[in-house]
Amino acid sequence: MNEEQLISRLRENGYKITPQRIAICKIVLSNEKHPNAEQIFEEIKRKHPAISMTTVYHTLDMLKEMGMLTELRFNSQPSRFDPNTSVHINIICKGCGVIWDYSSDTLRNKWNHIISEIGKQPIGQRLDVYIICDDCKKNLHQEK
Ligand SMILES: [Zn+2]
Ligand SMILES: [Zn+2]
Repeated sequence: MNEEQLISRLRENGYKITPQRIAICKIVLSNEKHPNAEQIFEEIKRKHPAISMTTVYHTLDMLKEMGMLTELRFNSQPSRFDPNTSVHINIICKGCGVIWDYSSDTLRNKWNHIISEIGKQPIGQRLDVYIICDDCKKNLHQEK
């Protein structure tokens, strides 16, 4: 999504357009590493030191309300934010917390099949797979 599309989307949804909001949206929507709010704030501060954490939180809420961002909540760790709202699997390392997206034709085909079996139109979904990544495996090995 380019800036023009973003602005018209915000307008359609009745949100005020401010340069700060646009700057935050651009950073959040282009970060596919599933950052937490703190990491998003750090990234924004580097380019826009005047933006406050409160503005960041409000903008994250706004993107969530518009269905452009998914908040992945965890029991004992801060939420992570995912701009990929299409059907995909979050592959999550239990060791270091790295998350990456997996999607394929197989997944999409099976998913459509499952949804037709369920017989209801989904308004959202979350698919997580937990693993130990190669780096964490190496570290575990070294500690022994
Ligand atoms: Zn994801
Ligand atoms: Zn790891």
